[in-house]
Amino acid sequence: MGRLIYNNLYCMGLLEDAKRLLAEKGADPAILEDIEDDAFGNGGLGRLAACFLDSAVTCNVPLTGYGLRFKYGLFKQTFVGGRQTEEPDDWSRWGDPWSIRRAEEAVVVRMKTGDVLAVPYDMPVVGYGMKNIGTLRLWQTESLHEVDFPLFNDQKYAQAAADKNRAEDIVKFLYPNDTMRAGKQLRVKQQYVLVSASMQDLLRKYEQRHGSDYSLFPEEVAAQLNDTHPVMAIPELIRLLGLRGVDFETAFGIAQRTFAYTNHTVMQEALEKWDLGLLNSVCPDIVVIMKQIDRRFRDEMKALGKEVLPDRCIIEGRRVHMAQLAVYATHATNGVAELHSQILKDDVFAKWYEIYPDRFQNKTNGITQRRWLGLCNPELCRLIESRIGGGFETDLERLKRLIPEIDDSLCRDFIAVKRMKKEQLAAEIEKREGVVLSPDMVFDVQVKRLHEYKRQFMNALSLLAIYFGLKEGRLKDLPPVAFIFGAKAAPGYRRAKAVIYWINKIAEMVNSDPETAGRMKVVFVQNYNCSWAEKIIPAADISEQISPAGTEASGTGNMKLMLNGAVTLGTFDGANVEITEEAGRENEYIFGATVEELNALKADYDPKAIYEANPAIRRALDTLDDGTFPELEGFAPGAEGTLAELKTSILEGASWHTPDHYFVLQDFPSYLKAKLQAITDAGNHPEAFARKCLMNVASSGKFSSDRTIRQYAKEIWNV
Ligand SMILES: *Cc1c(COP(=O)(O)O)cnc(C)c1O
Repeated sequence: MGRLIYNNLYCMGLLEDAKRLLAEKGADPAILEDIEDDAFGNGGLGRLAACFLDSAVTCNVPLTGYGLRFKYGLFKQTFVGGRQTEEPDDWSRWGDPWSIRRAEEAVVVRMKTGDVLAVPYDMPVVGYGMKNIGTLRLWQTESLHEVDFPLFNDQKYAQAAADKNRAEDIVKFLYPNDTMRAGKQLRVKQQYVLVSASMQDLLRKYEQRHGSDYSLFPEEVAAQLNDTHPVMAIPELIRLLGLRGVDFETAFGIAQRTFAYTNHTVMQEALEKWDLGLLNSVCPDIVVIMKQIDRRFRDEMKALGKEVLPDRCIIEGRRVHMAQLAVYATHATNGVAELHSQILKDDVFAKWYEIYPDRFQNKTNGITQRRWLGLCNPELCRLIESRIGGGFETDLERLKRLIPEIDDSLCRDFIAVKRMKKEQLAAEIEKREGVVLSPDMVFDVQVKRLHEYKRQFMNALSLLAIYFGLKEGRLKDLPPVAFIFGAKAAPGYRRAKAVIYWINKIAEMVNSDPETAGRMKVVFVQNYNCSWAEKIIPAADISEQISPAGTEASGTGNMKLMLNGAVTLGTFDGANVEITEEAGRENEYIFGATVEELNALKADYDPKAIYEANPAIRRALDTLDDGTFPELEGFAPGAEGTLAELKTSILEGASWHTPDHYFVLQDFPSYLKAKLQAITDAGNHPEAFARKCLMNVASSGKFSSDRTIRQYAKEIWNV
């Protein structure tokens, strides 16, 4: 969600007054940052849900978000000697003034490991102009016996304390893996509590209106499964209906018409497959229903004369494929950008598409312009208003009216706004990271979770190529440039942590070199989160969106940066394709192989040959094992987690993946060329560059999550 205080004041139309009143009392509005922390998800997936809640309430779509109320959110990241360290994120230690505990609506969740009470905490979602309030309902697990405490003798007290811990431990920590399945019993418990409590809640509300006639349930309730994490909601609803006397076939029909599924990733390591034994240890009744669903599926395939294949099955051996279960047992499956939805049909779910072509849809992601423009960039809002008036807060397509207004004077004013946002960011970075950036520099930004497929590694290679180029006089005309990173790595993702360390060491080397002083700076901010995003994104000139084509389902960071007038330095991947379509290819810096080109290349890709042939690549890659930087300690030489192993993984691969699995060396030459061009244009031709930036702002209307939510409402939910 990020911080709520500023957003809620903004949506209530009170932010400017509040700031003024605080200032009159001699207080900096930033003091509120010390008493409210960001709450509290992982990355793009959770932030998308937050944007959807904001859009739904503002667009008057009746939507409730369901989730878990983790005691500790995603870890707090700091760097010690350039290495990531993690500390618990006790986000509510100063209290949680937004939540209302609804003890009277608690439900019991029964598990083989012990029953727990799920107590809902409701957070308000404030609609813009405050015409409406929506709800984010987060479940907290508690012991069923807490109320009996005073009656207990010593021995029972100890038992009760153990019971309390067992219940509360379920929501103690958010799993920190972004696009990586966990496969642990605690994770199953978390998922089961979420879906069981939420389905019981929906059924109870429905029964208050209709008693025990469930035939209208799919007419009144639509449930959107945000990735596979809540897919157990399908068998859970069937189970709960079964307890109420509804037969399996009828219950399956109700569930299928109620649920729809959004796929968020094509990466195999993220597609959840649960071991039946593990599920049996937590929720055996759900396994029984999954087997019934699998039986129904096999009967249907037989009737259709279709085979059951690994790519078209629900239970394979001892594992359930949650994504395939979701495609089968829902009425709609959607991807989150045009390209991604096409890949689902052509590749990931091709065998399912063959049988159920009508189920597959696209809903290109979006972002709420309230937080990602109105709140974080009031300076740009004022400039926009001065030319086309307001109204874009609830109708982002209005920004199109800027296009005929783009002239030298608007470009100059835009540059002044951008400069102001760079000054603000530079002050924050100096305060928090001790690195001094000049607002006269070009700001090149890559902010997102750290993952191999996002290729922060390729960005690091380019920093070295640019640094050596500057020192050796090959880049005499390159304007001063600051490279800004923000990213958390999952604590167990050793390679991702080695990339953070490498970039931090590069930053130390570059920032302390008098030869490049004033020409190049590198900074990796600690603890990247929504609040950082709100400060970094408005100050960016260049938005790095550099995943190999076909790997980033959509991206939403790309949209936030576009809306704030950064140009995209990116591949034809995810929503970058649509961003380029909207703004015009001449206003972005697109490089690299397309999906088709990468698919054609795959079989005989030879990164070693590129390494041998390209001295710039060799020089940069060799810094990983030639003593330029101190090697990471605590690992065996060459083991995963070391710098040396980063190089090995590119040139030799590893047992579980091919060399340079994400085509870093393949795309590097075109990346570096496009990057140098973008930096040169931004620094040396600021007015022509501002024109591109303004074309991005003016063309970003499509990427409002208001549009996305309206499409879900109309085309999937029938609301
Ligand atoms: C938008 C956002 C993301 C998602 O960024 P991508 O570039 O789309 O991966 C991740 N983290 C935070 C804090 C964000 O605000």
